[in-house]
Amino acid sequence: MLKRNASLANLKAGYLFPEIARRRREFAALHPQAEIISLGVGNTTEPILPHINRGLVAGAAALSTPEGYSGYSDEGLLALRERISAVYYDGLFGADEIFISDGAKCDIGRLQLLFGTGVPVVVQDPSYPVYVDGSVLIGAAGSWQGSGYHGITYLACTKDNAYFPDLAQIPRNALIYFCSPNNPTGAVATREQLERLVAAAHETGSLLIFDAAYAAYIRDPTLPQTIFAIEGSADCALEVNSFSKSAGFTGVRLGWTVVPHALHYADGGSINSDWERVAATIFNGASNIAQAGGLAALEPEGLAEIRALSDYYLQNAALIRETLQHAGIACVGGDNSPYIWASFPGRDSWEVFAEILEHCSVVTTPGSGFGPAGESFIRFSAFGHRATVEEACRRLQSYYQR
Ligand code: PLP
Repeated sequence: MLKRNASLANLKAGYLFPEIARRRREFAALHPQAEIISLGVGNTTEPILPHINRGLVAGAAALSTPEGYSGYSDEGLLALRERISAVYYDGLFGADEIFISDGAKCDIGRLQLLFGTGVPVVVQDPSYPVYVDGSVLIGAAGSWQGSGYHGITYLACTKDNAYFPDLAQIPRNALIYFCSPNNPTGAVATREQLERLVAAAHETGSLLIFDAAYAAYIRDPTLPQTIFAIEGSADCALEVNSFSKSAGFTGVRLGWTVVPHALHYADGGSINSDWERVAATIFNGASNIAQAGGLAALEPEGLAEIRALSDYYLQNAALIRETLQHAGIACVGGDNSPYIWASFPGRDSWEVFAEILEHCSVVTTPGSGFGPAGESFIRFSAFGHRATVEEACRRLQSYYQR
């Protein structure tokens, strides 16, 4: 018999969503009449809009013709890489610095192969669980010690620091995961904060993995949508991004990672060349149908659809935020992001989760599942049909304003 990879046994945070699903099933079995609404997950709910969908359909149709057929496309279609550079980075990067992926999560998982097990890892606390879990799987997180992993530095993002962490705790030569707009807090870093982050990466010889998966939700023009809006970032940051939350491609699967030529290891080796090698070794490229959809999404009509779709979810977010605020529950996020981070001071997150499920039949996400600093918070997601979000808001309002 084979032995299990010891890192798998070390995995803790991966229990969050299965545990939520288990509690939801348990509640449904006890209350078969309850119409349960989920404001718990980050999965998109609205149909892909027509122009972008025509791109997907045309991409599939082309495959049945001799002229339109294509096979492997490794780093991605040249036209898509060029278009991403033009639309999102003002043409700052060459096509060979933009790698098309099957989604941001998949690239986050693969990226640590570049740095192995010996690298100190830094995350925002709370954070999207994949940064920590990916580090655990590769063996870079060290052992579990009570509320966190020994090899990971957790930068607390709390009300007291307006959800932007104290950067003085970053160790030397670290891999820093940073997500803005943030999942789960919904906080968006300002230009000045990102300038400090880039300065901290330079000072400590660290590399930033900037997760911009929710950039399409930024409406405030003063808030940067990419780390590369910050001068000097191209030699200390790479960026992952995705069509999931902008174009509704959560099931289609398409994303990209920008790995600038200016990024080097301590010995001067090129990170870009190694990433190309990793991609060719364990990833054979994103679906060509998805890429055809991505190209359509970056045409003017597609960009207008991205705007309309993200506006829809932002309107849901505004409804949830207003409901909570009227009920006297302090919350942040939901204005430039699809997540609302609601504070229940002094209370256990799972206890509040159970209360909302019990009294409103609404599934949320307990903040403690995203890291120790998430305790006493609940994450509300704005991904849902308008009618169900409105119904969830009615229930929350009648329970909390009772
Ligand atoms: N990054 C963050 C911060 C997310 O919240 C998510 C999904 O919820 C992803 C990445 C995953 O994106 P993708 O669907 O492109 O894998």
